[in-house]
Amino acid sequence: MGELDGRTALVTGGSRGIGRAVALRLAAEGALVVVHYGGNDAAAEETVALIAKVGGRAFAVQARFGESGAVDRLFEGLTAGLGSHGADGLDILVNNAGIHSASSIGQLTEEEFERLLAVNVSTPIFVIQRALPLLRDGGRIVNMASAATRIADPRQIGYTVTKTALAALGASLANELGRRGITVNTVNPGVVRTDMTAGYTNVPEAVAGLESLTALGRLGEPEDIADVVGFLAGPQGRWVTGQIIDVSGGTYLGPITAG
Ligand code: NAD
Repeated sequence: MGELDGRTALVTGGSRGIGRAVALRLAAEGALVVVHYGGNDAAAEETVALIAKVGGRAFAVQARFGESGAVDRLFEGLTAGLGSHGADGLDILVNNAGIHSASSIGQLTEEEFERLLAVNVSTPIFVIQRALPLLRDGGRIVNMASAATRIADPRQIGYTVTKTALAALGASLANELGRRGITVNTVNPGVVRTDMTAGYTNVPEAVAGLESLTALGRLGEPEDIADVVGFLAGPQGRWVTGQIIDVSGGTYLGPITAG
């Protein structure tokens, strides 16, 4: 018996990286997981197969956020898929899908910023809006923002602004939904080894630099984040809502002194 037996979960961007680890974690606890993805069919199928291999249940739904009608397509696929698995309603929503941009204020274009806003902010808002009529009392919403919201880094200003906007959703929604026992929290990962960060997490000097700024002395792995999402999504997270939780191994806490 898993602690999420009989529950359903939607993980946006669940095909790869952090989202895949979250999907695996929730499925391992018994949830039927909707693995949403943007375009990589093979990665999504692999996630579903990995879940099935260990006895879990999942199906994939494709919808490219930022394109017109994407939220409709996601919920059409979700409703149909839940029905064919003998399920309905939603218990857990993890807004994980997101994109990065490494641009300073001088480099950022309007087009780039609009895309960041569309994928990282507008779409999660309207996914939540569409999910609410399906979300059962006692449900969970987890939004994936970033430790970038705490750490001043002028090289990713558009990303930081959109993730800060996403994080700002949590407390207000928590107040609106709390009387139904629904919690809303934000997880702020530090640097995690995924496709998103492969450009520098494969560079030893860059890794050493990041590790030297992190209390726990290493980069994050997707499972480090998934375990925290699993806690928030499960029964043990029932008394935590409206919170922003830094899951970065203590990145940039202050000077690290030896001895
Ligand atoms: P990733 O690039 O490895 O995976 C991104 C996921 O989002 C994929 O499943 C993809 O299908 C989905 N996605 C991307 N663009 C999409 C679009 N337009 N429409 C629909 N789906 C789309 O990223 P990751 O590193 O696993 O990041 C997951 C989340 O965590 C993101 O929101 C990211 O901003 C956040 N985050 C990551 C890190 C990190 O260091 N990796 C740090 C802080 C926050």
